[in-house]
Amino acid sequence: MFPQWLTITTVKDDSGSPTHYVACFIDITLRKAAEEQINSLAFYDPLTLLPNRRLMGDRLKQALASSARSEKYGALLFIDLDNFKVTNDTLGHTVGDLMLQEVGQRLVTCVREGDTVARLGGDEFVLMLEGLSGNRRESAAQAKSVGEKVLATISQPYLLAGHHCRSTPSIGVTLFTDHMETSDELLKRADLAMYEAKKAGRNTLRFFDPEMQAAVATRAALEADLRNAVLCDQFKLFYQAQVDGEGILTGVEALVRWIHPERGLVPPRDFIGLAEETGLILPLGHWVLQAACAQLTNWSLRPEMSQLAISVNVSAHQFRQKEFVEQVLAVIARTGANPRRLKIELTESLLVDDVEAVIAKMTELKANGVGFSLDDFGTGYSSLSYLKRLPLDQLKIDQSFVRDILVDPNDAAIAKMVIVLAESLGLTVIAEGVETQAQRDFLAGQGCHAYQGYLFSRPIPIEEFEIFARRG
Ligand code: C2E
Ligand code: CA
Ligand code: CA
Repeated sequence: MFPQWLTITTVKDDSGSPTHYVACFIDITLRKAAEEQINSLAFYDPLTLLPNRRLMGDRLKQALASSARSEKYGALLFIDLDNFKVTNDTLGHTVGDLMLQEVGQRLVTCVREGDTVARLGGDEFVLMLEGLSGNRRESAAQAKSVGEKVLATISQPYLLAGHHCRSTPSIGVTLFTDHMETSDELLKRADLAMYEAKKAGRNTLRFFDPEMQAAVATRAALEADLRNAVLCDQFKLFYQAQVDGEGILTGVEALVRWIHPERGLVPPRDFIGLAEETGLILPLGHWVLQAACAQLTNWSLRPEMSQLAISVNVSAHQFRQKEFVEQVLAVIARTGANPRRLKIELTESLLVDDVEAVIAKMTELKANGVGFSLDDFGTGYSSLSYLKRLPLDQLKIDQSFVRDILVDPNDAAIAKMVIVLAESLGLTVIAEGVETQAQRDFLAGQGCHAYQGYLFSRPIPIEEFEIFARRG
């Protein structure tokens, strides 16, 4: 049997009366198959044959309506595989695909008939449980027990095309009852909770709670403000003195401040991380560089200030930009700053990948006179063999070691180690976060003769700093 399309045509004589009919059958098997395929592509994921995002959305809408009628809770479980990318990259896409198929099959065994298992794309799956209890607490417990079953099931070892693999999921859960939330909003909540599960160390489960949402909303508002701040020039550089063993001022570290129209002065720890995540660090970092170089030019004309160097913090993200070197050189050229008075502070986080590229960029800038300091030294994990190859000028002992240097022998030992290391690599060393004379004297005793910290000056606006500098 096969589907056919029948057409019948009348054949008429000269007078217009029908003489006979021509019937024609066309086999439309292929067309029907194509239709079905279009339908299934529209609603099912071709790899796992599970419902896709669209069908999931439809079913969620229906589930919301029926839970309003039945007054029973439902739950959405947002499931994301941990480190799936690693499996995919190391064992290849074929094995990755097999894993996704098997995860899909395993998920189906975790739920009751009538519940929905969908694949949203990539390594993201959603379970939709319906007809839980009429009581919120009980429903949460039911959803949790399904979630735990998923954790256990997905964590079982896999044998895929001869490879033994493992996988764990991170799961975000949210409950639903009626039309209070849209299906999009619910998915977003489950997704948010899933991110919390990732943050909590993966291979675990988290429920959505309103605080999570509040935190996300605050962050979104801050991001919008920050975007605006970059456009509206709401930043200001503060300067913190750096002194030598005799207490003579040798330079400053430029530290950015955000002058927020409502919140007032916002310290960098409240926005640098966000700026890095959103890419806003690029225009911001550029502004900082520009402002610091303009300051150098300004000082160069004043004998009492012309010897001072400015250290500028540069985020790893900023340094990794392809055009970073050209940008710095362009700023120097435009402002007329003396590159020998400019020092770039980098952190060890820069050294996690492509050290060769880092070395090449540093070398080029260095050839143009720019200096480098390795910030927060001792808190990251730079390999000593890299350290030897980086064209650095200075190591900066992190303030966390300076803080307890007098009471914690470990901190004292690390500080001492950094000082010796700097010496043997032919680098200078500066201690930051020096707050007391006793800390300063201890560091001096260990051979460190450059300091920065509240003992000498806090980071202050340029007008205050110039008064401070004149006092000597
Ligand atoms: P950092 O580069 O390690 O800067 C030193 C931080 O220690 C500054 O905090 C400074 O105010 C603080 N500090 C200085 N002396 C003392 C002291 O004696 N005691 C104590 N307890 N703290 C001291 P700040 O200005 O809040 O900056 C925090 C971080 O924000 C900086 O850490 C740096 O990582 C980042 N940052 C600041 N400005 C910029 C910038 O222009 N660009 C980038 N990418 N990051 C920046
Ligand atoms: Ca710094
Ligand atoms: Ca530092």
